[in-house]
Amino acid sequence: MQACWELLIDTLFYNGKGRIHWLASSRGWIQDLGTGKPPKHLLAKKKINLEGHEIFPGWIDSHVHLYLLGSKKYELDVGFCSSQDELLEILKGEVTPKTSGLEVCGWKGSELSLFLLDQVSSCIPIIVRRVDEHAVWVNTCLLKKANILKKYPTGFLADKAMKHLEPFRPKVSPHEIEAALMEAEIQLLSDGITSVHDMATELLPLKTLITLMQQKKMNLRVSCALYGKEACNAFPKPQVNLFNHHLNIRAKKIFIDGALGSRGAWLSSPYEDSPGHCGTPLSTEKELVSTIRKALQNQFQLIFHVLGDQASIFVLEILNTYFSPKEVRDRRFRFEHLEVCHPKVLPLMKKFGIIASVQPWHIVSDRPWLEKRLGKKRMNTVGIFDKMKKKGIPLCGGSDTPIEPHDPRLVKKFVHFYTVGGAYAEFSEDTKGTLEIGKLADFSVRSKEKTEMTVVGGEVVYAR
Ligand SMILES: [Zn+2]
Repeated sequence: MQACWELLIDTLFYNGKGRIHWLASSRGWIQDLGTGKPPKHLLAKKKINLEGHEIFPGWIDSHVHLYLLGSKKYELDVGFCSSQDELLEILKGEVTPKTSGLEVCGWKGSELSLFLLDQVSSCIPIIVRRVDEHAVWVNTCLLKKANILKKYPTGFLADKAMKHLEPFRPKVSPHEIEAALMEAEIQLLSDGITSVHDMATELLPLKTLITLMQQKKMNLRVSCALYGKEACNAFPKPQVNLFNHHLNIRAKKIFIDGALGSRGAWLSSPYEDSPGHCGTPLSTEKELVSTIRKALQNQFQLIFHVLGDQASIFVLEILNTYFSPKEVRDRRFRFEHLEVCHPKVLPLMKKFGIIASVQPWHIVSDRPWLEKRLGKKRMNTVGIFDKMKKKGIPLCGGSDTPIEPHDPRLVKKFVHFYTVGGAYAEFSEDTKGTLEIGKLADFSVRSKEKTEMTVVGGEVVYAR
């Protein structure tokens, strides 16, 4: 019998391939979907031919640095330099009589020195940022300006120490922040990423993000992890599903340690290539207990940067001593990175419902020097994602872009982390992560090699 009723929808996407061939969206949500030809009773205001390409749920990148990603376009990235000599040549070439300061990013090479950067200039401040953004090298001129020459005589500053340099770095205007955020959005959407978790969102970028969303200039969905006193004071309570599910402010980022490259990651036994040095904890027990207590009171999710094995042990011991598993589980606390993780912590992670937020791409790019830092024996504690999964620990996946590339297809094995896992990690499993009736119409359409189209809330926001 023929259907005698019609259903008016906003957009019908048809002629797709894969597990779903067509999808109907209305007001940003999935109204219906299926395989084969779309049913005749769907009356669409707009029809979009997917030309036989495959439909995938929108990717959720659970660890990005939005502002940093966009601002890289306007910075000098020295990641391509293969030697210190090459770096020196480039820096010297940048200095003109008008230069008042020089800052470059992305350095991947060996350790630099004060002496080396002083060869570039003795009268203008110079900063070279390490690729992981957890350490910098500066010249004598800048150390003198900041009055910290005695404290950091090598010119190497990592993690908390970098705060000393803040007053001497060029101020970024709201307009530059806006341009950077828009640039980041373009890059991410063109890779089929429809949602991101922005790590360590400071007040100014967050305010700009809100303005862009108010003006409907931003299509990407963003869940922020607040960072810094100003941002945390401005948002004392979580705010979720703002701007039609485009912005969540419900998490805070806490750094427990630094990065392996700069030997700031906190290890349970010394670095193989730095005897007696285990890395640097960035928080004390007293501070952390108070931070966790406050977060639980105000219903914030806490996102801990824990890269070395001792960092996760430290947090879990505090949770186990002072807090009930139920109250922590409800807030879905997250451990970021877990690059070096002792399997003995997995039962406690499970007990407290900790989400493992991992960046598989880090392991690939750190591989060449990882063994030198950790020693052979410890290599079996690197990237134990399969063990976590087997233990029933929820996982989500991220790129840590711009430190690593953000194309999710590079980590094919981890599709689940980038969809269902990412949705759970931001409390959005009812609206994101899979393509189902009643969820947000966020998806990408892909041919073998390329993202052909990205759709957010039923609107095409990127087309190749
Ligand atoms: Zn990061």
